[in-house]
Amino acid sequence: MAKRERTWDAVIVGGGIMGLGAAFELARERARVLVLERSVPGAEASSAAAGILGAQVEAHQDGPTFELALRSRARYAAWARALHEASGIDIELRPSGVVRVAFDAADARKTAREHGFQRRHGCRLESLDHDALRELLPSVTLEAKAGLHFPDDARVDPPKLLGALRIAAERSGASFESGALVKRIVSKGHRVEGVLLDNGSLVRGRNVVVAAGSWSSLVEGVPLPEGGVIPARGQIVELLLPVPLFQQVVFGPKCYLVPRDDGRVLIGSTLEFVGYRREVTASAVRNLLDAAIHLVPKLGDATLGRSWSNFRPYTKDTLPLIGCAGAEGLLLATGHYRNGILLAPVTAEIIAALVFGRAPPLEIGAFSPLRTRVKPQKH
Ligand SMILES: Cc1cc2nc3c(=O)[nH]c(=O)nc-3n(C[C@H](O)[C@H](O)[C@H](O)COP(=O)(O)OP(=O)(O)OC[C@H]3O[C@@H](n4cnc5c(N)ncnc54)[C@H](O)[C@@H]3O)c2cc1C
Repeated sequence: MAKRERTWDAVIVGGGIMGLGAAFELARERARVLVLERSVPGAEASSAAAGILGAQVEAHQDGPTFELALRSRARYAAWARALHEASGIDIELRPSGVVRVAFDAADARKTAREHGFQRRHGCRLESLDHDALRELLPSVTLEAKAGLHFPDDARVDPPKLLGALRIAAERSGASFESGALVKRIVSKGHRVEGVLLDNGSLVRGRNVVVAAGSWSSLVEGVPLPEGGVIPARGQIVELLLPVPLFQQVVFGPKCYLVPRDDGRVLIGSTLEFVGYRREVTASAVRNLLDAAIHLVPKLGDATLGRSWSNFRPYTKDTLPLIGCAGAEGLLLATGHYRNGILLAPVTAEIIAALVFGRAPPLEIGAFSPLRTRVKPQKH
């Protein structure tokens, strides 16, 4: 039967980490899955990310997002093993820890206070004075006064992760169509029927998972308000060193640094609301370089590598949109903003549970797409 005449168990719109993660989980459970990607899988934010699994460093308050993040971080080791087995690719999951560096004592106290709630969840975090910080991170500037260490936060290499997911999903039975632009969701009564491509063909699915990142609310028939998901641009500059200077992810006041095993260091990132403009700007590169060299002076000797930008899928309340979206069988997996790489395993687990009619692995009410309540669009 031709790909498009059959009815898929799940049609996934978008081949970023959310689409590929869901495809991998579903295909592993023998669902018949088709990923429709307007470009090629991994074309956008997911491959551009720094790869910080910052469940703790990114959490400034208790609540459902923190629980979601902890569960997802905990699933990464099993994901990395399964992906390695299925694809042969090492996604460079490194339990490197994250260090947040403070330049004055008041800032250090504030950061420690903000993250203090995490101890109630049994999470490890350690306050570092100047000497302890220098011992852990000898290359940090002498101007640094103190630090907060999150030993269980980690990092991965997103391009490798995306490549591994693509291969693993396909080897588990998922199908892919690149160059397939989904124009709208097609529903009949209260049930989803599939999607319509811009070339006019209908792709039928019992479930449709919208995982179109920053473009999710542009797909017609997705019941999100205008601006329900918008692009938040981030720019990154890459430096090259012959030998790695440090292993940990380092957060400073004006940038973060993410090392790779081969000596590269990513400097991130800006946060800009400039629509879908893809430029890398001179001022962003200057500011990121200044901040990075201030934090770790030896980076001044590094060779300048590539620079790029892409779009974090941002929602107004900064919570992701995961779950049913009105019509039966219509699911959203989007709006993960700064933490989509971190949150991919748990999101995929939730989507698989919903497709197979199981209870999600944790309470997902806070992430309901219906919280942004707008009238469904008529088509
Ligand atoms: C600079 C930067 C640094 C980041 N660093 C981190 C980090 O360190 N840690 C972390 O956890 N997160 C990080 N993020 C956030 C993370 O990258 C995102 O949250 C995540 O990648 C979103 O994944 P996604 O699959 O939803 O979107 P995307 O990766 O953007 O994928 C969406 C896909 O949908 C496709 N698509 C869109 N519309 C259609 C359509 N109509 N039909 C068919 N296909 C369509 C697109 O082509 C795209 O391939 C960073 C983001 C940026 C920009």
